[in-house]
Amino acid sequence: MVLVMASFAFEEERIKQEIQKLCAKRVLIQLPQGLKPEAPRIAKIVEKTGAIAIISADPCYGACDIATTEAAALNADMIIHFGHSKFVKHTSIPTIYVETSALINTAEVLEKALPLLQSYSKIGLATSIQHIHTLKETREFLMRAGKTVILGEAGQTEHAGQIIGCEYSNVKSIADEVDAYLFIGGGFFHALGISLSTSKPTIVADPYDNRAFSVNDIAQKILKQQWVCIEQAKNAKNIGVIIGLKPGQKKIEDALKIKEIIEKHGKTAYLLAIREVTPEALLEFPTLDAYVNTACPRISLEAPEKFTKPILTINEFMVATGEVSWQSMLKKGLFAN
Ligand code: SF4
Repeated sequence: MVLVMASFAFEEERIKQEIQKLCAKRVLIQLPQGLKPEAPRIAKIVEKTGAIAIISADPCYGACDIATTEAAALNADMIIHFGHSKFVKHTSIPTIYVETSALINTAEVLEKALPLLQSYSKIGLATSIQHIHTLKETREFLMRAGKTVILGEAGQTEHAGQIIGCEYSNVKSIADEVDAYLFIGGGFFHALGISLSTSKPTIVADPYDNRAFSVNDIAQKILKQQWVCIEQAKNAKNIGVIIGLKPGQKKIEDALKIKEIIEKHGKTAYLLAIREVTPEALLEFPTLDAYVNTACPRISLEAPEKFTKPILTINEFMVATGEVSWQSMLKKGLFAN
């Protein structure tokens, strides 16, 4: 496997302008894992404006995770959040999102993806924020290869064709019109989300590993494993309902509704508030038999064996209680709203 190094657009000039516009005196810099090595360089750019730069060294896994609590504790008057597009609509502290486009060539990997799309003529195109700028040329490439290309409207995301780890309304909106999806980006995480949200064949063109592959087998494996989790959770008497404390994960109303449904079924529900849902944190509650996770729906999906008790997404929970059938959940998606 050949690893291709990408550089990223950190929009240094815009950062300076935004700091000056807000007259910010203390700026909290937040980068996801993988981009953190750039933090010291960005801190120096921030300092050139006369503001104090503080780097958040905590993990940051997604667009949901805006460090507003930390910024308030530090008296920061601005957050610069890199690597994601706007997801949390209202933040208590002014937050600038720097989408951090990846500057990497996709031409070669698209050629590799073409044979995997051979049996499909209508292709839904999707990508993560880092590659949005490549969609136009990818569309042209596929059209030259004789494909019909369809892009979902922006919807809950900032751009047409953009998906986030837990937000797939964009690809779902075109599911009836396409034979398969092509995802541009690294790894299988996002593409797996497409497959689990649409039940359609999904091919990845990964420019970092310079390879193209299908995620269909992994998706099938996950569906089987989640079926087992749902069956196990049906026997649970004491159920923890997880409320995420990250700004974009807090779904208190959903958690309260789930608690009500659990109690309607004669079981006991407990509300648990947590920042990071980890196997270790849940081990502290040995009397709970299963969990419904209203925080990040992807936490247990790829590695449920790390958790000792079944963890269900909201949609899976509805199947476990018999409120929704497995078939209609598949239509809706394992975790998509
Ligand atoms: S909730 Fe999970 S999948 Fe969604 S943005 Fe946050 S970390 Fe990513």
